Amino acid sequence: MNKDAETIRILVVDDERDIREGSERILSRMGYQLQTAARGDEALEIFAKVRPAIVLLDLKMPGMDGMEVLQRLRVLDPSLLVIVITGYATVETAIEAMKQGAYDFIPKPFEPDQLRIVVNRAAEKIRLTRETQKLELEKTRTLADLDTEKSRLRTIIESLPDGVLVTNTTGQVVLLNPAGRKVLKLGSETAPGRSLEDYLPDEDLRRLVLEISKGKHVDFEDIPEKEFTLADGTTLRALAQPVLGDRRECLGAIVTFLDITSLKELDRLKSEFVAKVSHELRSPLSTIHEQLATVISDLVGTEPQQHMLTRAKEKTQTLISFIGDMLDLSRIEEGLICREPRPVHLEELLQSIVEFLSVRAKAKNQSLTIEVAGRDLPEIEADPVALESIFGNLISNALTYTPEGGRIRVELDRTGINLRVKVIDNGFGIAEKHLGKIFDRFYRVKDEKTRYITGTGLGLPIVKGLVEKLSGIIEVASTPGEGSTFTVLLPVKS
Ligand code: ADP
Repeated sequence: MNKDAETIRILVVDDERDIREGSERILSRMGYQLQTAARGDEALEIFAKVRPAIVLLDLKMPGMDGMEVLQRLRVLDPSLLVIVITGYATVETAIEAMKQGAYDFIPKPFEPDQLRIVVNRAAEKIRLTRETQKLELEKTRTLADLDTEKSRLRTIIESLPDGVLVTNTTGQVVLLNPAGRKVLKLGSETAPGRSLEDYLPDEDLRRLVLEISKGKHVDFEDIPEKEFTLADGTTLRALAQPVLGDRRECLGAIVTFLDITSLKELDRLKSEFVAKVSHELRSPLSTIHEQLATVISDLVGTEPQQHMLTRAKEKTQTLISFIGDMLDLSRIEEGLICREPRPVHLEELLQSIVEFLSVRAKAKNQSLTIEVAGRDLPEIEADPVALESIFGNLISNALTYTPEGGRIRVELDRTGINLRVKVIDNGFGIAEKHLGKIFDRFYRVKDEKTRYITGTGLGLPIVKGLVEKLSGIIEVASTPGEGSTFTVLLPVKS
């Protein structure tokens, strides 16, 4: 059975009952839905009710002539397929009927197969027409959807609270939303279409956006966030990323802007507050510490009291170091440290730190060695106090977080434009989950091994702050139970 047949209605109009019944039998078996009429007026009535897609129409009937029925049907439904049934004698009439818009004709009397072929051909045409209409409809719908989607996306971008700027592959700005224009303090006349200089005052950011636009960073890796300040003092944070097409080809860059002026101000006030409080606490604490030292040295005999006061003295010492660290951090933030760079012989500086700390190493039965690769390493242009703080902290940590009898090695060599210092220990190591956090303020790893070790959690933040001030990089690699390696790269000319 023809699958499409069930949905196609056929009306057979013929005054001969044999033809009507014969056609009905044959076509019903093929799955078509059949209606029959013996006269023209009856045919028009049924047509109005059931709306068949195909009409088999005898041209010679009593009453309304077949040709007139054909004309009327065509007016009612121009897409209707009319197959004219006609005797041999009236082939000319059939041709005339075709001219009037009949689709096909079948001579009378016909064989069942002839009827099947003619009707199937008409059904196929209907199927194809329906298919085409469906595709057309889908196409129109998709286009309409796309259009709505496009304008919806545009509306969303236009209403985003964050500034958005998009470039093409040549770095030309192709989109800038109202929030972007506002945050960059651009007038409404700065419509998209110009080059980056007209929108971004920060040269560093412009260079980055241009690089991304031209296809660098398509892997989204190592794209730095940029902060910059506008002429009126507003501080903005910009995040740039590539825009990729279906085949991951670069189509340009997208930059989002966030106004962080108030966050910066809050940060500044916080640092100022911490610095003030630390400063105020330091002198009285130092006095208490000294007084305790005097009392202890004058105390004779009474063991428990001496023990108590010694503990108190240790605690004040811890507090004094803590306050010292806080003040150091504030100074780094304010840029008060590393302001006096001068040529430093890094090998000598490391040697003297190692020498100074070797007393502590000996006390724990640890080996502390230094290895320098290559001779005549260049001097480094930096503040020696900052360098002492960096490597003093790292080596001191290595001694602290390595058990008795462990090995600590300091390596110095040159790699490209940098001097590289590695502080390697075979101590406790640091679990993966802590590695990203140990440079955060006050972060300390608390586990079975480190539980009894006192500290402030400020050493590594100070080290990182100083390394960055010297335009360097610090990295850490560590395996729990095997040890840690802290690597510092410092440019020879900072
Ligand atoms: P502190 O030593 O005062 O706790 P730091 O900021 O110097 O603070 O270090 C933060 C944490 O990083 C330490 O508490 C310690 O758990 C871990 N850490 C630092 N250096 C090492 C090291 N060489 N080996 C193992 N853990 C370390």
